[in-house]
Amino acid sequence: LLRLENVWKRYGDHDVLRGVDLTVEPHEVVCLIGASGSGKSTLLRCINLLETVDDGAIYLDDREITAFGVDADDVRKRIGMVFQAYNLFPHMTVLENVCLAPRKVHDMSRADAEQQARELLSRFGLADKADAYPDRLSGGQQQRVAIVRALATRPRLMLLDEVTSALDPALVREVLEIIRELRENGMTMILATHEMGFAREIADTVCFLDGGVLLERGTPEQIFTEPREPRTREFLRSLL
Ligand code: ATP
Ligand code: MG
Repeated sequence: LLRLENVWKRYGDHDVLRGVDLTVEPHEVVCLIGASGSGKSTLLRCINLLETVDDGAIYLDDREITAFGVDADDVRKRIGMVFQAYNLFPHMTVLENVCLAPRKVHDMSRADAEQQARELLSRFGLADKADAYPDRLSGGQQQRVAIVRALATRPRLMLLDEVTSALDPALVREVLEIIRELRENGMTMILATHEMGFAREIADTVCFLDGGVLLERGTPEQIFTEPREPRTREFLRSLL
């Protein structure tokens, strides 16, 4: 579904991604782990074309999306992204937030967009929040709405960047619950996370980024119990 080939990204003279190769199969859940500054967010931003890559190529459904002349909006229709700080539009209700992209980007009618939004909201236990403004919701609820909003464009792939790290521990669970449900529904996802317990539970594949290098990838079992690379071992030990 997604393939990265030798992706390089630099800011000034700092190489933030150094030749990343990564393949993601349909329905696969990939967790990116690694120290702060290792390039996890940058990698997700490159996949969503929020950053241009300096070298290498990214393919979505076998089409190169980093090629010259590709319409970034068209690519983003097929990729849902959710960030650490839930960025709902504060002046719009929950329903309006969820309807926005389907209406603007997919030219869906208001009635269809609203019907779909209400279905999604009720599926994720947010039906009664449809007419509320974001500042009336808890952080966990806001983040769930942000995920629902990303789902409303029916993406092929979801990119989730530290979606629980701005939340109180008590609210983390409800967001993780949604991600678990997405997984059960076969959504292909790439998650950057600092929550190793969650990565271990949900990932098919764990990738360890170290200074912009995808140093090691494997099953959670392999990465967490018998990492091959000394740097991976060191990183995991530092978290204990
Ligand atoms: P964290 O776990 O803290 O979220 P991360 O793995 O997501 O870290 P990135 O945000 O991808 O790391 O950052 C990787 C490196 O790129 C960092 O050294 C950061 O300072 C640098 N960087 C990121 N964005 C920019 C930018 N717009 N301009 C310059 N440098 C940047
Ligand atoms: Mg980050």
